Parts: sequence; C-alpha cells; structure tokens
Amino acid sequence: MTIQNCERCRALFHKKVKDICPACVQKEEEDFQKIRLFLKRNKTIELITVSKETGVDLDVIYQFLQEGRIILSNSTQSNYPCKECGTTISTGALCIACEEKRNDVQQMLQTHATSEDEVAANVEAASQQKGGFHTKR
Ligand SMILES: [Zn+2]
Ligand SMILES: [Zn+2]
Repeated sequence: MTIQNCERCRALFHKKVKDICPACVQKEEEDFQKIRLFLKRNKTIELITVSKETGVDLDVIYQFLQEGRIILSNSTQSNYPCKECGTTISTGALCIACEEKRNDVQQMLQTHATSEDEVAANVEAASQQKGGFHTKR
C-alpha cells in the first residue's frame, strides 16, 4: 500500500485513486457543489467574485474548469490559466499553443522520427500547416 502526502493539506494517507486525502476529496466535492449552485444563480460574474462569495480557493475553481467539471456561460467574463504554461484561457485545460504542442508530440510519436533533425522538421511543418503558431524553444 502506498502512503503519500495529500497534495492539498499535506496529511499522510493511503493513496487510492486521487492525489488528495479522503477529507480533501469530500471538501472538494462540497466546494464543487457550492460553485455549481453559485454559477446557477449568477450568470455574469468574475471568477474572483465567485471565489470571494463562496469562500472556495481560486486555484480550486481553476482546477474544476481545467477538468471540465464547470463550464462557464458565454456571458461570464472570466478566464483562467492554462495547465501547462499559465496563459489565460477560457475553455478546456490547455491554451492553443500547448494544445498544438501536444498534437505535435503525438505526430512525432506516430511518424517514428529517428533523428533530432527529423523531429525538429516535423514540429516546423506541423506549426506551419496550422498557420502561424511559432513553437517556442
Ligand atoms: Zn488532504
Ligand atoms: Zn499553455
């Protein structure tokens, strides 16, 4: 059995499925219900306000958004950081650039590139095809 620290409260617990302890799983569920209800009643709202009004940590709200558990309505003027690079996004877990990078990696794996030059060429080609996103190195 694996014992590890809870990612949220640092308590030791026997790891099962999640990286957080049972107490935090329950807390997370309560937070989720709070936010869900709040968003139901308030359509146009900033995430920072949601956090303040519900007392739920902003990072927890970001996590729900990245996991797709909360979907914001179009009128909600709120953005949250990309899981990978922190760029502001308003849907999904990753920004467009990181999404592309992920696709590029998948393509590389599929094409079985043998040399680093080939890999670089594939990245270059992939980013040009999709029109103008330059891969940062
Ligand atoms: Zn915990
Ligand atoms: Zn990103």
